[in-house]
Amino acid sequence: GSQQKVEANVLLLGAESVGKSALTVRFLTRRFIGEYGDIESIYSHTDRVEGREISFNIWDSLCPQNGEVEGHISDRQLQWADGFILVYSICDRASFNVVRQQVQRIQQAKSKSPGAHPVIIVGNKRDLQHRRTVSSEEGRLLALSTDCGFFEISVAETYHEVQLVFHELLDLIREARALK
Ligand code: GDP
Ligand code: MG
Repeated sequence: GSQQKVEANVLLLGAESVGKSALTVRFLTRRFIGEYGDIESIYSHTDRVEGREISFNIWDSLCPQNGEVEGHISDRQLQWADGFILVYSICDRASFNVVRQQVQRIQQAKSKSPGAHPVIIVGNKRDLQHRRTVSSEEGRLLALSTDCGFFEISVAETYHEVQLVFHELLDLIREARALK
């Protein structure tokens, strides 16, 4: 029925310091604090989308420390996630390259279970225009060529855009489920 409960497991990926924790906390509390610890955690957050209660489980991942290559995604993470938010900073080209690798990794896994892994690419820190090293075009092109959603946002400046990212991913997750 219309009150059916919907759950969505969202995995946040990307290089260090791009704003994954800031994005998570912004969505959970609507606030931007400034500094975030290095805690790996799965948060639950209920949000109302078009009159429906949606339970988001958000896995704010940490970058692998020693032993594993940067950008590594574990099989466990791939299996857990219904959808992915890949974050880079528009002032950090290396972080853009990490996202590029991670999209590939997800899509390789995707080819084994079709339609199961929607991805949104997020270019964060748009408020730092003067330090930009990744153009909007590059971000948009990567998303287009890999069939992902794309947003450029500033977690520091706005809550609304952050909410849009999660709602858009939710739409994609629902589409993917409908296709199964
Ligand atoms: P994580 O390592 O990906 O979880 O990154 P954090 O969420 O810890 O953020 C790293 C740093 O970037 C922190 O100092 C944040 O305050 C800062 N930060 C996050 N989002 C933004 C943003 O939109 N604009 C600016 N200027 N700084 C941001
Ligand atoms: Mg973090």
